[in-house]
Amino acid sequence: MSDSNKHAGLSTRMIHTGRAPKKQGGAVNPPIHRASTLIMDSAEDLYGAKRTYGLAGLQVHDQLKDALNTLEGAKFCTLTASGLLACTLPIFALCEAGGEVLIPDNVYGPTRRYCDRSLKRTGGRAIYYDPRIGSDIDGLITDKTRLIFMESPGSLTFEIQDTRAIVEVAKARKVPTATDNSWAAGVYHHPLDLGVDFSLLATTKYAGGHADSLSGAILTNNARLHARIEEASRDLGLCLAPEDASIVLRGLRTMETRMRQHETSAIAVAEWLLKHPKVADVLHPALPHHPDHSLWRRDFTGSSGLFGVVLKPCSEASVLEFLNTLELFGLGFSYGGYESLAIHCDPQLDRTATTPDFGGPLLRLSVGLEAVDDLKADLEQSLSRV
Ligand SMILES: *Cc1c(COP(=O)(O)O)cnc(C)c1O
Repeated sequence: MSDSNKHAGLSTRMIHTGRAPKKQGGAVNPPIHRASTLIMDSAEDLYGAKRTYGLAGLQVHDQLKDALNTLEGAKFCTLTASGLLACTLPIFALCEAGGEVLIPDNVYGPTRRYCDRSLKRTGGRAIYYDPRIGSDIDGLITDKTRLIFMESPGSLTFEIQDTRAIVEVAKARKVPTATDNSWAAGVYHHPLDLGVDFSLLATTKYAGGHADSLSGAILTNNARLHARIEEASRDLGLCLAPEDASIVLRGLRTMETRMRQHETSAIAVAEWLLKHPKVADVLHPALPHHPDHSLWRRDFTGSSGLFGVVLKPCSEASVLEFLNTLELFGLGFSYGGYESLAIHCDPQLDRTATTPDFGGPLLRLSVGLEAVDDLKADLEQSLSRV
């Protein structure tokens, strides 16, 4: 698609960028080349060609990067074999021994685990902060700060960060910033447009969309920072398998359409739950009573299918009974696939900078693409047992 079409609708751009049917025998989708070795045209090319080995990616990877750059308004993209790696690689690449990384207290659990284990082992240090800190983040920045990490909304508890305030401070103090943008999937939130240096995506979730592959992406407009990430990726020998690249690229073509349905269904279920007598609260930033609703309105253009539900105080046995009697909601981690999922969160609410108290057991629902009335009926029959 030509640059003159860059103001076309998102679905149009996602369907028409990163495609070259004429170069692939007319096939709509790119070929999946399985390759380690690439045969060079000449001896000069062995040490001179742009691409000399499969580890650097192939045609399908190039097309996927084009599509993801279009999605996030980015110039540069590094693909990773999981969303977790998209989060940990920038920390690895930017934080040397003695360096510090500022991490929101509600960060995705495995990112926290990386910080507490591997980052620590390599001499770096994570400093956890209240996700609602805003411009007060200034007080935590030192001459050792190498990265301010954000995640908005935060995993499990759905706080929205004041990205603009944090970016303003970070730019004044010359510290790079990154946002884990997996919840909004690059569709409803564009951190790079707000001045964040890296947007990180678990494309495993909404881009993949069918719970059948793992992948991630690190997007930026900063050539120098991109070079650091690429260097780390090359040093470690990281790559994304071509089949998984192809699956994500296919998912991106329909992502906006799927997201709109996830959004509408999730809001319908969330509003219904908020009025339910067994429910104490619903943690969904698009609902007007959410404490960060105005920040969400300011910086997001929509919401995905994932939100939190707080039950009125009840025993752990009741929570397990609720989950065990769900029929349509699968019990499983992750989100973004077509099927609805549920988990209880309390066993993994690991916080050190804040002490959130929701006044009851916290659950997380991922609303899939089933009919909303069926999902409500499933929740109702299980809630009736609590
Ligand atoms: C799922 C998720 C990840 C990790 O993605 P994987 O592909 O499962 O490794 C990272 N961040 C957030 C917020 C996620 O929800």
